[in-house]
Amino acid sequence: MNDNVCEQNLRQSICEIGHRLWLKEYVVANDGNISIRLPNDCILCTPTMVSKGFMKPDDLPVVDMDGNQLSGALPRTSEVRAHIEVMKHRPDVQAIVHAHPPHATAFCIARQSLPRNILPEIELFLPDIPMIPYATPGTQAFADGIIDCKTKANVYLLANHGALALGETVEACYYRMEMLNQYCKILILARQMAGEWSRLEPSAVKELAELRNRLTKTAPSE
Ligand SMILES: [Zn+2]
Repeated sequence: MNDNVCEQNLRQSICEIGHRLWLKEYVVANDGNISIRLPNDCILCTPTMVSKGFMKPDDLPVVDMDGNQLSGALPRTSEVRAHIEVMKHRPDVQAIVHAHPPHATAFCIARQSLPRNILPEIELFLPDIPMIPYATPGTQAFADGIIDCKTKANVYLLANHGALALGETVEACYYRMEMLNQYCKILILARQMAGEWSRLEPSAVKELAELRNRLTKTAPSE
């Protein structure tokens, strides 16, 4: 596949994921942003001040690794600079999706870290969900919060803001965002019903950790 065909496919993927984020109400109005590396070491990203639900492939700007806009009629999101800083420190990350999913954002506003050892799928696929201290969106301080984090997670809660998902594709980022918000929603519902969450037994946690290690070893490298 040549670079032009590849870029056109990535443009369509970003628009499709933007629409899914909007349909799920993970973004409203002009919220959120999406970025992905291009083969020529540039970044394709979403424009500022547009609904992510109704973008067209030709709307998407291309920027260099300093955030300077190289093409596209619409101005780039100001937050792409922070995405680029994260990508520079995480060569494994090809794409970033930022949104404000309501249930995940509720935990961000309550500043409550997510509990571990509750649901098997989360233990297997999102075992690390750090809460990043609040920083003004799009600033170096915002990027530093992710970069300075002790572990290399694929999803982050952003205090008093929203969530960030990293991955090898925009689709992978989206599914991580979906899993994160679903987990937060279930936690809120369970606490309303029972006042507390039931944890998995230590033996079950151990088995899941072993399964996670096996899955990690057999997963294609990112
Ligand atoms: Zn935001």
